[in-house]
Amino acid sequence: MSTCDLSLPILKTRHTARIVIIGSGPAGVAAATRLLEQGFQNVRILEAENRIGGRINTIPFGDNVVDLGAQWCHGETGNVVYEKVKDLNVVERTGDIDSSVKFIRSNKQLLSEELTKTLMPLAEDSMPDESEEFEGSLGDYVTNKFWQAVGKLPNVDRKIATELFDQFKKSECSYEGSDTLFEVSGKGDYEDCKGDMLVHWRDNGYKTFLRLLMNSKQDQPEDLGVLNGHVELNKRISQINWEGAGELRLRCWNGELLTADHVICTVSLGVLKEQHASLFVPPLPAAKLRAINGLKLGTVNKFFLEYTAPPMPKDWPYFNFLWLEKDLLELRGSKRFWLESVTGFHIVMSQPRLLEGWINGEHARYMETLTEEEVLEGLEWLFRKFLPFDVPHPQRFLRTQWHSNPNFRGSYSFRTPLADELRTGPWDLEAPLVDVCGKPRLMFAGEASSKTHFSTVHGATETGWREADRLNEYYSRSTKSSQI
Ligand SMILES: Cc1cc2nc3c(=O)[nH]c(=O)nc-3n(C[C@H](O)[C@H](O)[C@H](O)COP(=O)(O)OP(=O)(O)OC[C@H]3O[C@@H](n4cnc5c(N)ncnc54)[C@H](O)[C@@H]3O)c2cc1C
Repeated sequence: MSTCDLSLPILKTRHTARIVIIGSGPAGVAAATRLLEQGFQNVRILEAENRIGGRINTIPFGDNVVDLGAQWCHGETGNVVYEKVKDLNVVERTGDIDSSVKFIRSNKQLLSEELTKTLMPLAEDSMPDESEEFEGSLGDYVTNKFWQAVGKLPNVDRKIATELFDQFKKSECSYEGSDTLFEVSGKGDYEDCKGDMLVHWRDNGYKTFLRLLMNSKQDQPEDLGVLNGHVELNKRISQINWEGAGELRLRCWNGELLTADHVICTVSLGVLKEQHASLFVPPLPAAKLRAINGLKLGTVNKFFLEYTAPPMPKDWPYFNFLWLEKDLLELRGSKRFWLESVTGFHIVMSQPRLLEGWINGEHARYMETLTEEEVLEGLEWLFRKFLPFDVPHPQRFLRTQWHSNPNFRGSYSFRTPLADELRTGPWDLEAPLVDVCGKPRLMFAGEASSKTHFSTVHGATETGWREADRLNEYYSRSTKSSQI
């Protein structure tokens, strides 16, 4: 059929349409729960991992839980996660932590409060305003602005300014998810939700949000609520055949074949980058491929160290590392070179016996290839090198490996100058593949397809709802036209 004949009776209804959602991260869970709410009945989530949640992964550790992936609700106003939980007494604001951050140099010298107060505002002010757009990379922008500002100050020690600025850039890369700020576009359309940027889940973790979406039973930790019977774990999809105008055919990693009328694909940008050529038959359209190539999924990893007692003095809740030039050069020539990208450590909220550390970029990917023992040995060396007091050996240690996992291949997405060059962005990732009647057959959700809230859980959730609403609207339209 080459034209769309709306006088034909519609064959499928909300009761009979078979919808397959690939992935059970926040985008997949949001899509599925909303579709069920809208009256769709045949909704299946197929998940490659042996658990739901995707990049939300709350696990028991220490005295309660830690989050290996998403940890904070970034902002309040206009944040769909915060909107859902704000009155339920499950989250808490973190407030100002900047004033408690200590900057410690590789010669164990603490950066003075006076210098911190002089230099940090210059680094922070070097970031563009949210509404500001410019050509080139964020790295170019902040570097120019920071050094211009430093140049106007008399008697600033440029070596220390360099150390602090290097550390500032590392922290910003951790927010962006990038290896360097030079690969982040100046045209970011990200819109901050106002309010506390680090709203946290007290001692219950981010999975609380998924449980609320699913309406899980309070006293049953594994209950999937309204998604009971709709989720299949260990179901990795290896091929999505969307040829023609009829049903889509999916192949599972174990050879099992499935069919569906609509597929919502929520796999990460990293999975799309690595697997699109084999995953989709026929290949995806050029605009979609431009987005997959132009956008990037960076790597941010965490370390958790558990001690028998709080390991840090009370006034050291948060500390970042500043490398002296000579120590950095020495480090770069050693087997511990990857430690350069460890940003800092802090005590975990509600868990004073835990230290949490962060590493990002190329060195984070390298760290994933080391054994746990090698990683811990490196971190303990770092503590001895920088800290003016002893830190005991932890009783338990873990690190994340988001890039090595073929179901993720990274942490969160950002816009690059290449995307600008290709004139592509999340909108191309979002665009559904429809038939001649406008029926959405293959749809895309997931954080990287969010125009304004990419890289976050609230962004991912919005994209899941967006695709559910797209289908709902299609069925509302087709029901009306068949009644004419
Ligand atoms: C270390 C880290 C820290 C973060 N911190 C925060 C934070 O503090 N606040 C915040 O808002 N966000 C944070 N994020 C980002 C946030 O976790 C993600 O933006 C969000 O979870 C993405 O959700 P999603 O549904 O788009 O994708 P995902 O959560 O990745 O879900 C996709 C699912 O698809 C599955 N899948 C992949 N391939 C297949 C296949 N072939 N077949 C079947 N299933 C497949 C995956 O297993 C996964 O479960 C963090 C992420 C990381 C990694």
